[in-house]
Amino acid sequence: MTAPDAAPSTSLSGGAPARATVDLDAIAGNVRTLREHAGDAGVMAVVKADGYGHGLLPSARAALAGGASWLGVAQLPEAMALREAGIDARVLSWLHVPGTDFAAAIGADVDLSVSATWALEEVAAAARTLGRTARIHLKVDTGLGRNGAYGADWPVLLDAARALEAEGAVRVVGVWSHFVYADAPDHPTVRLQQERFAEAVREAEKAGCDLEVRHLANSAATLTNPSAAFDLVRPGIAVYGLSPVPHLGDPASFGLTPAMTLTANLAVVKRVPAGQGVSYGHQYVTQRDTTLALVPVGYADGIPRNATNVGPVSVAGTRHTVSGRVCMDQFVVDVGPGAEVHPGDVAEIFGRGDAGGPTAEDWAQATGTISYEIVTRIGSRVPRVHVGGAR
Ligand SMILES: *Cc1c(COP(=O)(O)O)cnc(C)c1O
Repeated sequence: MTAPDAAPSTSLSGGAPARATVDLDAIAGNVRTLREHAGDAGVMAVVKADGYGHGLLPSARAALAGGASWLGVAQLPEAMALREAGIDARVLSWLHVPGTDFAAAIGADVDLSVSATWALEEVAAAARTLGRTARIHLKVDTGLGRNGAYGADWPVLLDAARALEAEGAVRVVGVWSHFVYADAPDHPTVRLQQERFAEAVREAEKAGCDLEVRHLANSAATLTNPSAAFDLVRPGIAVYGLSPVPHLGDPASFGLTPAMTLTANLAVVKRVPAGQGVSYGHQYVTQRDTTLALVPVGYADGIPRNATNVGPVSVAGTRHTVSGRVCMDQFVVDVGPGAEVHPGDVAEIFGRGDAGGPTAEDWAQATGTISYEIVTRIGSRVPRVHVGGAR
C-alpha cells in the first residue's frame, strides 16, 4: 500500500488507473497545529473509518508523530487493528453493541466508552474473567440525542460504575460528550452543552470518580472554541486537513493542509462533433465539436453519482466540470476543442486546491454534502499511496 518515493500525481500504483495520495507530513503538521489550538489539553486524533479514508495505520502513526497522545475510533475492530500493528498509544473505542468482545479490548489495553448500564455490565463481566480492571470513559448525552446517558440515566450509570470500581472491575478514567452543532460554533446549544458537561463532570467527581480526562471538543470546537478543550480534544476531519467550518474559513486559514489528493490517468481522449450525447442517459450533449476525456473513477470509487454535470475536475492543469452521468467506474469530461490532452494525462479530482485545482470541499458543495463524506467514501479499489512522514 505504501510507495516510499512515489511521484504521487503521475505514477501508476500497481496498474491502478487512480490513486489517493496521502501526505503523512500534512497529517502530522495538522496535528501540530491542533495541539497549538488545544492549549494545555492533549489531542486525541480520531482515526475511525479507515482514518477518514486516508488509511488507518499510516494516519494513526502520522498523527502520533505530530504529537497526538490518544487515538479515537468508533468500533472495536478499528482499535484492535491499531494494537495488532503494534501501536501502543492510548486508544478509545466508543460505539459498541451487546455481545462485543470486550475481553479482547481489555486484553489489548483499549479504553472503552460506556453509555449505558448494559455496556457497563458486559465490560465488568469481561474484566472479571480476565482478572483485570477495564478503563472506561462514561459518555453523557448533553443534548445531541444520540449516544450517551441521558438525563436521569446519568446518575444511575455513575452509581453503577462506582460500585464496579469498588469491586476493581472497572476504573472510570474519563467523562465525555459530543456537540450537536459541529459546524456552528456560535449556536446557543454549544454553551448549553458545555454547561451540562461541566455539571456532569462535577456529578461524577462528587460520586467519587477520579477522572484522568474530560473531553468534549471535536474539530470545530478545537479550532473555534478554546473554552471547550477541557483535558483532551477529539479532532477528526481537521487531522486530515479539511475545514469543519468551511463557511468560517478554509483549511489554510486554520493552518491546516488537506492530506488527500485524488488523481486518475485519462484512459481515452477523443474528438466528437457537436450534438453528441455523453454517458448514460445523454445528460450532457456537446455544444460544439470538442474533445472528450475519460476519467477512470466512478461511484464505486466514491465519486458521488450526483456529481453528474457539476463535479469539478482539473484535467492536465485546467479546471473543468464532469460532463454527463457519473458511472460505476468512470466519468467523462468535455475539455473543449483546443485542449492539448492525451491518454495518461493526470486528472486531479480533488487535492490541496493550491494550484487552482478542486478541493474535497468543492466536491461537497457541488454535490450537497460535507467534505467528510467525500473523503471517507473513497472506495477500497482506489489505492492509498502514502508519501512523506514516519511510516
Ligand atoms: C467522529 C467523531 C469525532 C471527530 O469529529 P470531527 O468533526 O471529525 O472532528 C469526535 N468525537 C466523536 C464522538 C465522533 O464520533
